[in-house]
Amino acid sequence: MIETEDTYKHQGLRRGLIEVLKGKGITNEAVLAAIGKIPRHLFFDKVFHNNFAYKDVAFPIGSGQTISQPYTVAFQSSLLEIKKGDKVLEIGTGCGYQTAVLLELGAKVYSIERQRELYTTTKPMLSKMGYRANLYFGDGFAGKKAYAPFDKIIVTCGAPHIPEELLNQLAIGGKLVIPVGDGKDQEMTMITRIGETELQKETFGTFSFVPMLTNKQY
Ligand code: SAH
Repeated sequence: MIETEDTYKHQGLRRGLIEVLKGKGITNEAVLAAIGKIPRHLFFDKVFHNNFAYKDVAFPIGSGQTISQPYTVAFQSSLLEIKKGDKVLEIGTGCGYQTAVLLELGAKVYSIERQRELYTTTKPMLSKMGYRANLYFGDGFAGKKAYAPFDKIIVTCGAPHIPEELLNQLAIGGKLVIPVGDGKDQEMTMITRIGETELQKETFGTFSFVPMLTNKQY
């Protein structure tokens, strides 16, 4: 049974989370509204609903992976500056929370997950919650050439380097937001494609993600 209940208590906790995110410097109104709308507790096992779902922390979701910290989701989503109708590629579907945020922002979402177990549980769950994304089991390093170019690409695992294929699949004017680094910490990096051959790179401080799995690791 997939639970879909959203109570006043959860809504209250969610308003509290929004205040915490504002206090940490998140100002993008559309992103805050999306987080305010999505019942994050439904992405957790029921026993953890009240204690963890609306705290600003990352949390294990099985298969050795985590649901990203709300601040990190808000930060990456703000950098992307999603416009309604943007075609967005997400690498690392996980439990689908970031996917839901992108959909609430009006994006058309393509999302790839490397671990079959997560792909298999997340797909029906998002759909039951009414979120329509194009979900794929596959390797994020390869992107999704058949649907390229993308207006935005977001990577939600720590990448050892910037995958060439993802740059190739970025539209002119498009943005790739990716945490880069192969240790415990990564540097939040944004690449904007200015022209056919011109890329601009900006960095936004240190974050900590689970690693982007390479061919040898799964
Ligand atoms: N977006 C999720 C974050 C999940 S954690 C959220 O909203 O909480 C990162 C996810 O990236 C994990 O589910 C992990 O299995 C996945 N991942 C790791 N390496 C990958 C790869 N090479 N391709 C696609 N997904 C990958």
